[in-house]
Formats: sequence, structure tokens, C-alpha cells
Amino acid sequence: MSIMTADHATITPDIRVRFAPGLRHETGDEIRRLGCRRTLVLSTPQQADVAHGLAETLGALSAGVFARATMHTPVDISADAVDALRASGADCVVAIGGGSTTGLGKAIALVTDVPQIVIPTTYAGSEATPILGQTRDGVKTTLTDPRVQPEVILYDPELVTSLPVAMTVTSGLNAIAHAAEALYATNRNAASDALAREGLDAFARSLPAVLRAPDDIVAREHSLRGAYACGAVLGMVGMALHHKLCHTLGGSFDLPHADTHAIILPHAIGYNATAVPELLAPVVDIFGGVTPGRALFDFARRMHAPLALRDLGLAEADLDRAADLATRKPYPNPADITRDGIRTLLQAAWEGAPPQR
Ligand code: NAD
Repeated sequence: MSIMTADHATITPDIRVRFAPGLRHETGDEIRRLGCRRTLVLSTPQQADVAHGLAETLGALSAGVFARATMHTPVDISADAVDALRASGADCVVAIGGGSTTGLGKAIALVTDVPQIVIPTTYAGSEATPILGQTRDGVKTTLTDPRVQPEVILYDPELVTSLPVAMTVTSGLNAIAHAAEALYATNRNAASDALAREGLDAFARSLPAVLRAPDDIVAREHSLRGAYACGAVLGMVGMALHHKLCHTLGGSFDLPHADTHAIILPHAIGYNATAVPELLAPVVDIFGGVTPGRALFDFARRMHAPLALRDLGLAEADLDRAADLATRKPYPNPADITRDGIRTLLQAAWEGAPPQR
């Protein structure tokens, strides 16, 4: 059965995944179900009011709020959060927010092994993976460890309605990138292929509906199912050119995470379409178009996504260095990674020109 029609998705048996409007109100039941007594509620400073609202409804089950989650999980903030957890007497965490907040919960679990409940409010999909990216002195490293995989995921579409439309689009394209690259992962399998297609299909259908009516709870829930499928597939198989390029651009030029993913995606997929057009055929089937890169570029344009790196403040003079950095270390990728090829890709992405394939 499709995971899109299931009330509970159980791709990995130990993880409890639920979808329903208003599900945040059942957080207390989930805390008790885990055998826990008190939780520390996590959020970014921007969503502190949402976290405090949740803590209030949890009453005695709440041990307080730590609202300092930050993009790319800086280790000093995680250390403060572990201290706050221990001082509060909490025996689990509830992360309410996007990938940054989920990342903080994972970093706490890595050290303390407390159970995590995640209530996602973006489509980043981090809640569905045992992966944690952290930064120390501005350098980002990524680890995979079963301790960081959240135990419970509560997808409440009502919470995503507050995600601004522009972020909805870039966050959705960020999720689509996980599934698109999964289609040609060297360690892909029948399950990852099926999941990737479901994720792509969910976003191809739900994002236009969400754009037309951001408060459409049915479309928002459908998009969250897509986020889960795309996140789960990210946790199952290895990523390639697209994720490496975004990592380089984000880390070395401080470009915003989701916008960078949105812009690079059609170009990275177009680059690899030269080598594995048959593996990328689902992208054309699902999004419509002639080639995989063009299909995603046209979809992004229809969704009014950012299309040009220059609009994110990257200087044209930086493209040579970006190409050097992105081709320094070899990694598995369907098409050969050449310095010239990547420089040409970056030029098109900088200008906002459509990809060739
Ligand atoms: P984010 O969590 O940084 O959120 C961006 C901003 O939007 C924050 O200020 C947040 O508070 C706000 N926000 C979130 N949801 C909102 C809502 N519904 N309404 C209003 N405001 C809202 O952004 P993100 O794109 O979700 O996550 C990015 C981070 O996640 C990056 O650090 C990335 O590396 C990480 N990530 C990790 C994985 C993994 O598997 N480890 C996967 C994907 C992303």
C-alpha cells in the first residue's frame, strides 16, 4: 500500500510516524507512551511563541522551553541545550520547527540518548533520517548514528500553514532534491525507488495546490507526506552532485540552505541526465517536460521559486572558486565531475538560465 494513504507510515519499524490535523495536541499522550515524564521543548527564537504555547498545553509534562535552535546546529548551542536538559530534569525532547530545531534535538540525543518527538513545520525531512550535520568554528561535519533518529514524528498540517509561501516553495524543492538524487544513488533499491517516486509525486500535486491556497489543510497534509517520503529516502541512500554542490555553496559562501537547493536542483539533475536519462525518467513523467532538468526548472518557475544564484548575493567572480572547491574531492556521481562542466553548470545557475538537459 502507498505510504500516502496510510494513517501511520512504518518504513522503519522502530519509528512512530503519524499524520493528522491537530496532532500537536496529542504530544502529551506520545510522551507518556514513550514512558517519559517531562520534556524540554525545543524551537528557534523565531518560533519561541509556538514552543511556549505547546509547553503550556503540556502542563506538568513540560520541563521548559529552549528556544535557541540555529541553522546548521552549532556545537556550542547544543552543549548549552544539553546543560538545560539536565538542569530541567527532562527525560525527553520535543522539537517543534524545521530542520534546524530537529538538528538540535538530534544533537542532544547524540549525547544523552533521550527519546525525541519531532513536530515538523517545514518540508526539510531531517526528522526521517539518522543523519546530523553540525558546525564547529564554521566548519560543518555530518554523521550518521542510530541514536539521532527521532522515535516519534507528528506531522500536523495546521502548523505548516504559517510557513510563508516563498519558504514553502524552497523547502518543498529542498525535499524534492532528496528524492531526485535517490533515483540514481549507487545504493538505491526497489524500496528507495518507490519512496522517491511517491515523494516527487506528492510534491508535484500538492505544491501547486498549497500555492493557490496556503491554508488548504488537505494539500498541506499531502505535502507533509511528501516531506516524509523524501526525508526517509535521504536516510536510506547516498546523495551526490546536487547535495555536494549545495554543501559547498552553503558552507563557503554562506548562502541560504533551502534557496540554494531550489536553484541548483534543475542544473544538477540536468547535468546527471546526460549520463543516466533512464533513471531520471520518473522526473519527466511526474513533473512533465522534455528532459529531467528542464522539467524541474519549469516546475520551479511555475512555483515562483528563486532561479538565480546572483539573486542570493553570490558574486560572479566567486564562481571560479566555487567550481574549484566543488571539484576538489572525488565522490560517486552518475556523470563525470569535471571542473569545466561544474563551472558551466554554476554559470547557468548564477544567471538563472535553464539547464540544457
Ligand atoms: P529552519 O529549520 O532553519 O527554518 C527556517 C526558519 O523558518 C526558522 O526561523 C524557523 O523558525 C522558521 N519556520 C519554520 N517553520 C515555520 C513555520 N511553519 N512557520 C513560520 N516559520 C517557520 O529551515 P529548514 O529548511 O527546515 O532546515 C534547514 C536545516 O536542516 C539545515 O541546517 C539543514 O542542514 C538541516 N537538514 C538536515 C537534514 C538531515 O537529515 N540531517 C535534512 C534536511 C535538512
